[in-house]
Amino acid sequence: MKVAVIGAGIVGVSSANWLSKFGQEVTLYDKGEPGSEASYGNAGTYAKYANVPTNSSSFFYLFPYLLFHKDSPLFIRGKYFIKALPWLTKYLSNCRPSKVKDTSEKLTTLLSRVDEGYEDLFKDANIEHLISKESVMYLWSSKLFYKAAIPDFATRAKTGIDIQLLDHNEISDVEPELNNNFYKGALFNGSYFSKNPKETTLGLLKLLQSRGGKFLQEEVMDVKMNSSNKVEIITDKGKKEFDKVIVCAGVWSKKLAALFGDTVPLEGERGYHIAYNNFNPIKRPVAWQERGTYFTPMNDGLRVGGVVELAGLERELNQKVISFLSRAAKHVFPNLLGHDQEWVGFRPSVPDSLPVIGQSKKNPYIYYCFGHQHIGWSLGGITGKLIAQEATANKTDIDLSPFSIERF
Ligand SMILES: Cc1cc2nc3c(=O)[nH]c(=O)nc-3n(C[C@H](O)[C@H](O)[C@H](O)COP(=O)(O)OP(=O)(O)OC[C@H]3O[C@@H](n4cnc5c(N)ncnc54)[C@H](O)[C@@H]3O)c2cc1C
Repeated sequence: MKVAVIGAGIVGVSSANWLSKFGQEVTLYDKGEPGSEASYGNAGTYAKYANVPTNSSSFFYLFPYLLFHKDSPLFIRGKYFIKALPWLTKYLSNCRPSKVKDTSEKLTTLLSRVDEGYEDLFKDANIEHLISKESVMYLWSSKLFYKAAIPDFATRAKTGIDIQLLDHNEISDVEPELNNNFYKGALFNGSYFSKNPKETTLGLLKLLQSRGGKFLQEEVMDVKMNSSNKVEIITDKGKKEFDKVIVCAGVWSKKLAALFGDTVPLEGERGYHIAYNNFNPIKRPVAWQERGTYFTPMNDGLRVGGVVELAGLERELNQKVISFLSRAAKHVFPNLLGHDQEWVGFRPSVPDSLPVIGQSKKNPYIYYCFGHQHIGWSLGGITGKLIAQEATANKTDIDLSPFSIERF
């Protein structure tokens, strides 16, 4: 079967590899360089513990801080607020405790399979040297935020996640070089991270190509059915016919889904990073909860990133966010001088914090795998495997109905 995959971020590259492993003839499209959007600029963590959605019950408790505090990691650009309001309202309505419990259970079915999604791919691609097994550490600088996180520890522990709570002094034992102004910490044992997300995605692309899969740097402009029930992909450079198409285009998937009459409330939750070249004071990703900021020791230096900005899909950097990240960095590493890189990207997010995985409502030859929000770097492998199973054999290891586009 000839299958096209649209989008060469971590989700598309993983899906393409699994399809190829299952014997399909795969063509992967990307309008730009593979792995250069959200899959480039993230914090690199394989966050198997992240089964509490960002819109958890504690969100209401922390909402005044998030909206009004000068050090809040939430930025909403004035004019965009009205545009984002329908999405925000749906997002807030999912903070009900019963809904959070349900979301958490559904996320667990995916997050408990993160290793299964990647292990073989990393081995086959010979990129295990890019992966560090040092676990992620969360830090809290206030009682307010720590108290809000306590119910989440219980939710996580119930699903077998191994959390090691740390008091103030123990934080310095784990990472002695950081300026310890922190109240409490937690290590998520079993989590790990990529020291170079871009190279990781490119390594998986090479694996695909070594198995006969093709990559085309072309922008998909239109997708049509022809009279012999083949799907025709029309790009800026030409057209080709396929038996099936998988849409893995991150935040741009909404536009492609609309071609088939499928609607989805997909928003770009903007995230930023700044980077300090050749500066490597820590061994593991450290996440400062109050600031929504991750410090990740990448191969080429320290990446300081995170935050959420609602402001649409323009590339323009908000300098307020850059100086917010730089202040956070100097707080944790007081000797830091200026940063070397600045980046903004778009987390593809739907308001119920679950990805969209499965067949189109309107066209049986079209499949979706997008909307992985804050945890797509972790979930790319397993959701790629599941959509490849669905498209190849219509039979998946877990029930995909909770993730169907039909829920909208
Ligand atoms: C600051 C930040 C930190 C993060 N940290 C983490 C983390 O630590 N752990 C974690 O699990 N997740 C993290 N995430 C989330 C994660 O990065 C994303 O969920 C994930 O990268 C999404 O992958 P994707 O392949 O769906 O999208 P993308 O990487 O955005 O890829 C989509 C691709 O589709 C292509 N495309 C779009 N339209 C077309 C078209 N018409 N034709 C051809 N190609 C097209 C684009 O060019 C792009 O390359 C973070 C995100 C951010 C922003």
